[in-house]
Amino acid sequence: MKNKVVASSNGSVGIAAAHEILHSGGTSLDAVVTALSLVEANPDDHSVGYSGLPNMLGEVELDASVMVGIGLRAGSVGALRGYQDAALLSKHVMDSLPHVLIVGEGASRFASECGLDFCDLLTEEARTVWQSKMSSADPDRELDGFLERMREIVASIATDPQLVEPPHGTVNFICQDREGRIASGVSTSGWAWKYPGRVGDSPIIGAGNYCDDRYGAATCTGRGEMAQRACTAHSIVMFMRFGESVETSVRTALRDLGALDDPFASEMNVIALDAAGKPYAGSTASGKTYIYLEEGMSEFAEMDREHVAVDFD
Ligand code: ASP
Repeated sequence: MKNKVVASSNGSVGIAAAHEILHSGGTSLDAVVTALSLVEANPDDHSVGYSGLPNMLGEVELDASVMVGIGLRAGSVGALRGYQDAALLSKHVMDSLPHVLIVGEGASRFASECGLDFCDLLTEEARTVWQSKMSSADPDRELDGFLERMREIVASIATDPQLVEPPHGTVNFICQDREGRIASGVSTSGWAWKYPGRVGDSPIIGAGNYCDDRYGAATCTGRGEMAQRACTAHSIVMFMRFGESVETSVRTALRDLGALDDPFASEMNVIALDAAGKPYAGSTASGKTYIYLEEGMSEFAEMDREHVAVDFD
């Protein structure tokens, strides 16, 4: 079996490092965490880690998870403030605590205990994007009429020429070593202007991330509330468990989202890898890509995701 790495396209800054770790005999988990850490440190990516876009109050809150396909071990953090290494902290949760998910102040406390570096995650660039949708001069009133504000913000984003990229995003990595051992990881700053304390799908095992060596792995980006309600990552792996191909599993899970009643429904993207090492990716939006690198390739390939049209009305 060949080493392989599958990732969302914004994982391009980490994919070579992940591959190198696998090549030199490292674990698929170390490959995933190292790759995610590089994306979290990338100041040009406003959807993950340092320089992520903040919540409605201008505070950056990170979500992340890691999962290991042997023994179904997992760790995750939600609404983490003040530390960029959300994926590494997820690994520490998995390795050192009898828990899966730590959130908010507890997550920051644990990051400090683990010796991670405290930093201000909000950059000037991200602050400027955040402020462009803020209307209240009084910071204490920012959360008044939150739902209405969110509707206005979402509607204005669709026509905002300055926001060429959607103001949300996430990075996904799935790595498999020569023995077929799989690990998967997800990291994000979540939806910009979200309600403080909102946790998306990325740290929820089964929603944004799921990995089982016997069948395969899947991870998500997109509107997390949809993956949370449909258990999208777990569904994909379960479809493979019951004999569906990775292609059909991805397609079926995305089509299932059409059953959701969600006025904020928007795109969902998934990447998956079956136990035999076959990657596949899909999106409810057209023109999306993912990246892939396996032993023997000199550089990663950017591949088209299947566009799975879903009627959200
Ligand atoms: N899934 C992320 C979340 O809901 C955001 C994204 O991928 O766009 O937090």
